[in-house]
Amino acid sequence: MINLSANDLDHADQLVDLGIAPVVTLLPADQVTPTVTPAGRTVAICPASVRDDVSCATCGVCAVAHRKAIIGFPAHGSGAKKAQRVFFMRQEPAGHSAVTLEDAPAAPPA
Ligand code: SF4
Repeated sequence: MINLSANDLDHADQLVDLGIAPVVTLLPADQVTPTVTPAGRTVAICPASVRDDVSCATCGVCAVAHRKAIIGFPAHGSGAKKAQRVFFMRQEPAGHSAVTLEDAPAAPPA
């Protein structure tokens, strides 16, 4: 199963509009309850993101091709701060980017 991966809620709407695959999206770290996109689409929270007793093996919703909801993943782990900056960068007006080239990860050793 292929899921299109969005960087934020606006991007999720754009990907859903393509109509080619279900969509998942990054969410701010503190977004742990269902929400909606700017176009009014439901975004369900990945249960494994907020519960210890759920895994992909017991959930499986990402494999449902014709599901109605977008699945949201609250940013977490070592990349959470950067992911959150990317999320909010997309919400800011042009010219007010919170992410710079200095934020890019170093290239892996050759
Ligand atoms: S299948 Fe369920 S637990 Fe796994 S990533 Fe998708 S929503 Fe989360």
